[in-house]
Parts: sequence; C-alpha cells; structure tokens
Amino acid sequence: MTENVHAHEIEKFGAQAERWWDPDGEFKTLHQVNPLRLQFIQKYADIAGKRIVDVGCGGGILTEGLARAGADALGIDLSEDLIDIAELHSLESGVQAKYQKISAEQLAAEQPESFNHVTCMEMLEHVPDPGAIIKACSQLVKPGGMVFFSTLNRVPKAWLLAIVAAEHLLKMVPKGTHEYKTFIKPSELSQSARDAGLELRGMTGIEYNPISKRFRLGRDISVNYIAAYQKPE
Ligand code: SAH
Repeated sequence: MTENVHAHEIEKFGAQAERWWDPDGEFKTLHQVNPLRLQFIQKYADIAGKRIVDVGCGGGILTEGLARAGADALGIDLSEDLIDIAELHSLESGVQAKYQKISAEQLAAEQPESFNHVTCMEMLEHVPDPGAIIKACSQLVKPGGMVFFSTLNRVPKAWLLAIVAAEHLLKMVPKGTHEYKTFIKPSELSQSARDAGLELRGMTGIEYNPISKRFRLGRDISVNYIAAYQKPE
C-alpha cells in the first residue's frame, strides 16, 4: 500500500512532541478548543463505554478527553515521537487511553467496522489525499456510528486569520503549521464524505475572539470548522 502521508508533516509535528502537553506552548490552541470539540461530539454521540478511534491523534489531547468522558479510546498517528508522548502522558495522568502507530487505511483493512465512532481533528489538511482518510474513517466505523472531522476552510478569511494572524501576528501557532492550498471547503469535505457513504448530520464553526482570546462554537464556518457525519445503518 502506498502510504498517504507527507514525511515532512510527520517530522514537523514529531519535532514538537515534547511540548505537546504544555497548555501555554505551541499547541495551546488545541488545548483551548478541546472542550468545544468534546461538547460538539457529545451532542451527536453517546461516547461513554463506546469504542472510539482518534485518527491523527498527535500527543493525545482529544484521545484523553474522550477517555476521560468514559470512552474506550484508541489514538492512532504515524509519528512515533507523538505516540510515545501520548502513552507517557496517559501513564502520568492515569487516563486509560490506548495508542498505536498505524495509518487509518491500515487499521481500516485490519479492523473494519470495529468502532462505534471515529474522530479525525485538524489532520486532513496535512495529508496528500484527504479523501482516502475520509474513506478509511468510514470503513472503521460501525453502521449507525458517527464520524467527526475538523479542518480549515479554503477561503481568503481563513488564510488571513489562520495563517497571517495566528502564525505571524499573534503567534498562536508555530510558523509553517498550515499551508492555505491544503485547506478544505465544507462542500468538498461533505462531497468526499458522501462518496465514502457518510451522511452529514451537523456542522459548526470554531470561532476565535482576539479580544477575549477565547474560542467558541458558532455559525461562522469560514475559518475553522467541525462536522458530524453518520454511516447509515
Ligand atoms: N488530532 C490532534 C492533532 C492534530 S495535529 C488534535 O487535534 O489534537 C496533526 C496530526 O496529524 C499530527 O499528530 C501528525 O503527526 C498527524 N498526521 C499527519 N499525517 C498523518 C497521516 N497520514 N496519518 C496519521 N497521522 C498523520
């Protein structure tokens, strides 16, 4: 299987593994948006006691959040350094989350329709073929289960806020984290999801207020957004 991965992306994120869990470090925004993502997920899915795979889990910020909420959570990523950090953190925090270095496509081939729900956050914009990841997520989930994605919208406002403001002016995320051309329009995400047999159930913006320096869920999907899809029974 030809791997659907950019080596430079894995190296870039892996190089920052040790600072992943610093709430005021490079990944501060992931820490800030995590409660909102969990809130959105729990609006569409009952996660307690459910088997969930978190695709492109990084250091496990969402994976641990899911496990804390009672899910039987597995985080997968292709960065060995990040899987190590995620495992170490779960030992320290005592939160029972599992981690594995494996691609979504490989896990889908090995364990099709094995998970009650699937999450894949801030990851699609970092792979060569996001459609193949969406398809793998659809293969991983059981019929009736939910698949959640979040990513950045490819409209000029997202370039201005997610790259110019967040990376260069406000220095909220490291420079070079994102590339505009990899951003995905909500219509494209939904088309790929439909092609993979998933039906849209809801979509919400993750809005940032630079005055209060806080994120909230809202109607503006023109920068960062999160969406819920269901695999029909
Ligand atoms: N989902 C996490 C981390 C987002 S950062 C969160 O939102 O908190 C993007 C992550 O995607 C990084 O951990 C990176 O290693 C991972 N990644 C990039 N390409 C990947 C691929 N092809 N397969 C699995 N993970 C990948």
